[in-house]
Amino acid sequence: MADRHVEHLLIGGGVAAAYCAAALREEGAEGSVLLVGREQDPPYDRPPCSKEYLQGRVSREETYVHPADWYAEQGIELLTRTSVMKLDAAARTAKLSSKEEVSFDHALLATGANVRRLNVDGCDLDGIHYLRALGNADTIRADAEECDYVVLIGGSYIGCEVAASLTLLGKRCAIVMMEPVVLARQFGETAGRFLQDRLQEHGIEVFGSDELLRFEGEGRVARVVTKAGRELPAHMVVVGAGAVPDVMLARAAGLELGETGGVRADRFLRTSAEGVYAAGDLVEYDSVVHGRRLRVEHWDVALNQGRTAALNMLGREQPYDVVPYFFSDLADWVSLEYVGPALDGWDQEIVRGSLEEHAFSMWHLRDGRVAATLSIGRSEDLEHARRLIASGADVSARVAELADVNTDLASLP
Ligand SMILES: Cc1cc2nc3c(=O)[nH]c(=O)nc-3n(C[C@H](O)[C@H](O)[C@H](O)COP(=O)(O)OP(=O)(O)OC[C@H]3O[C@@H](n4cnc5c(N)ncnc54)[C@H](O)[C@@H]3O)c2cc1C
Repeated sequence: MADRHVEHLLIGGGVAAAYCAAALREEGAEGSVLLVGREQDPPYDRPPCSKEYLQGRVSREETYVHPADWYAEQGIELLTRTSVMKLDAAARTAKLSSKEEVSFDHALLATGANVRRLNVDGCDLDGIHYLRALGNADTIRADAEECDYVVLIGGSYIGCEVAASLTLLGKRCAIVMMEPVVLARQFGETAGRFLQDRLQEHGIEVFGSDELLRFEGEGRVARVVTKAGRELPAHMVVVGAGAVPDVMLARAAGLELGETGGVRADRFLRTSAEGVYAAGDLVEYDSVVHGRRLRVEHWDVALNQGRTAALNMLGREQPYDVVPYFFSDLADWVSLEYVGPALDGWDQEIVRGSLEEHAFSMWHLRDGRVAATLSIGRSEDLEHARRLIASGADVSARVAELADVNTDLASLP
């Protein structure tokens, strides 16, 4: 017998749960909402952890999705430092780390993802950091105060953003990565080269097409040794090697998992257990836009999925049909936005605008259709990119217009 009953139980104190809570109230849910998160802070935005918060430009409170007192004002019960230990999806009950057992009508699983840890020689040395939470950013910043040379492992957005942020703080940074140029996996080599140039012109060294072999040092990391034989001095290391969905609770509850390791959900974000929805980094959902299963780790996706799950808890039958959007800032040197992703790659790249002037959008087409678009300084193009990605319209006869900044993109099909 449960200790108490709630109408909506939101598991995981991240952005997906926070926006689900907000949407429930905005959409008129009057019943009880309980949000359970295991971190010490109320739900916060992670993007600042590698950017403004790491740089010391915004306070901890400014990263919060809602002010700390918002939850009580909305009649939403927020339990921080509390984990859901067990979920019985059939009985619709959850056991909390406080020992309390709660029954629910609907639950949202939004337990996010955990960093992928590297298992190489020297990986247990002090001074090797991973970044997922505000607490990690605090530790990295404090440790960086004692360091001059920082090596970033990984040329994805975490490695690039942290390198940029620590450079702003006066550190000498080097990136080691398997890709030929930074961010090439996400955005292709032309865009990657452009972004790498921005990092290098601020003194960041970039070692591409290489790989970490081991860390060396006595107690604390002192060197990074690569497979190509480089030995880079390192007073400290930050690893950005991707994330894995946190499905511990879901797996133990017997929920269906997908090929990406995420929790399977349909286009309404319903999992295999009735009354249980999933949103954010952990969900592998049926994408209406892409016509196949997708799992994306983007802030905007978590936010919108949290909202969609709320609508569906309220019986609205709302498919999640938003084209995924991603943004990244490399210090205040360059900001990028991206809609896509181009899951099957692309066979044509069209630049609209000027790389030299740092104002362009880059259109990746496959079989004459827009698969993804990156913008640097041309945000206004993205609404058209979204429309064209969603419609799947053939633009192969219109590529000259796409490339011409004088063409009104609204005229494309
Ligand atoms: C450093 C960093 C920078 C980023 N920058 C960008 C960016 O610039 N642009 C962008 O689009 N995306 C960015 N992202 C990605 C974005 O932040 C994520 O996609 C988003 O946070 C996912 O939200 P979520 O709610 O699904 O999961 P999370 O934010 O991971 O939240 C899940 C929460 O659930 C908690 N939890 C897990 N299990 C339990 C349990 N059993 N009981 C209770 N609580 C539990 C976790 O501790 C965590 O607090 C960044 C991510 C990081 C780490």
